[in-house]
Amino acid sequence: MSIDQSANRFVCDLVAYEPGKPIDETARELGLDPSQIVKVASNENPLGPSPVAKAAMATALDEAHIYPDGGGYKLRSAIAEKFGLDRSNVVIGNGSNEIIELLCHTFLNRDAELIAAEHAFVVYKLMATLFGAKYVEVTDPNFIHDLDGMADAITADTRLVFIANPNNPTGTMVDEETIDRFMARVPDHVVVVFDEAYHEFPDNPPDTLKYVREGRNVVVLRTFSKIHGLAALRVGYGLAPAPLAELLQKARQPFNVNAIAQAGALAALADVEHMQATRTLNAEGLAFYEKAFADRGLEFVPSHANFILVRTGEGDRVFKDMLKQGVIVRAMSGYKLPDWVRISIGTAAQNERCLEVLDQVLATASV
Ligand SMILES: *Cc1c(COP(=O)(O)O)cnc(C)c1O
Repeated sequence: MSIDQSANRFVCDLVAYEPGKPIDETARELGLDPSQIVKVASNENPLGPSPVAKAAMATALDEAHIYPDGGGYKLRSAIAEKFGLDRSNVVIGNGSNEIIELLCHTFLNRDAELIAAEHAFVVYKLMATLFGAKYVEVTDPNFIHDLDGMADAITADTRLVFIANPNNPTGTMVDEETIDRFMARVPDHVVVVFDEAYHEFPDNPPDTLKYVREGRNVVVLRTFSKIHGLAALRVGYGLAPAPLAELLQKARQPFNVNAIAQAGALAALADVEHMQATRTLNAEGLAFYEKAFADRGLEFVPSHANFILVRTGEGDRVFKDMLKQGVIVRAMSGYKLPDWVRISIGTAAQNERCLEVLDQVLATASV
């Protein structure tokens, strides 16, 4: 008998998340030094972690024998203060991905529905599948979330609607007016999740925290993985009205965010300088790629985030051929976009190297 027969069917059916290819693995396979590899596959911060966060983490190591503050008092207080909220509005997670899981624990079951956009962040679908819920996908013309269509899709069984804004992997953003119109149509039994992992990159992101303050059934997700350059730590947070935040708190493990990560995140939150440097570098890199793609007649999706989706044709081949030259991009076939690759914005040198290799690989296109 296969062990699969004893296992939960939803787990057996799951197609596991495929992360960006790690630098060390690529270096081993190519016989190169890891420092020669350019990884622009996971929307990481090319400036690295905030130096202030590194120092705070080094200090925190002295206390590594003590269990972390399970209540996350300092970090949650600082986050609350930054946004003019109360600590009771803040839930911290092992990456914002964990908060997505907590939302599913709290609201999904086999009778429930989760609504997301066709080209939304793939983790929503993985989680809905894992909980046996129905995943409802709403088409997104020009890769932009169709919030009217998403409101139309709401039924009595809908529990969660995910709006990634800006969205990954498309980089598109819906504006505040569109969100307001959508929110006016959302009934009380539905929780709207604004996944704002890239919120700090665009100049004028829509304000969704007003819905938290108004006590609507809304959770705003943010993360330390992108603008703060702390992806390895795994810290993210959710902002929600207190009764909703309290439910999520019940669903988490007692020590879900480790003490080193809490210390690093707390310091990073105050490092405005590092955030600003990251934004500036990113804006320059986006402009570089948009011009380069336009010059080459390559279709791309104008981005509000720290990556860009470009139509190269044969995304899997382009990924593999670029990999042979030590540049890791992300193929998009898993998102049903086999002709596209997603490139994270790097340093100027990384961007130039990536473009040079892309040019070479496209010049040798197998027709
Ligand atoms: C990167 C990303 C996250 C962040 O994940 P963490 O678990 O916080 O590292 C969340 N949502 C989207 C859409 C992302 O692209």
